[in-house]
Amino acid sequence: MMEEMQNANQQQANNRSSGSEEKQVCSNCGWQNIARNNYCNDCGSEL
Ligand SMILES: [Zn+2]
Repeated sequence: MMEEMQNANQQQANNRSSGSEEKQVCSNCGWQNIARNNYCNDCGSEL
């Protein structure tokens, strides 16, 4: 649980399958959005 929060602060997404929901990193700002998002939760860019 705490690892996920730390990973969110890191730009590089280490895709180790943790069994949780997939993330997709915004190419504009690097924000990790949940995979079902169509737009970045941080900057609003289309994912
Ligand atoms: Zn973004």
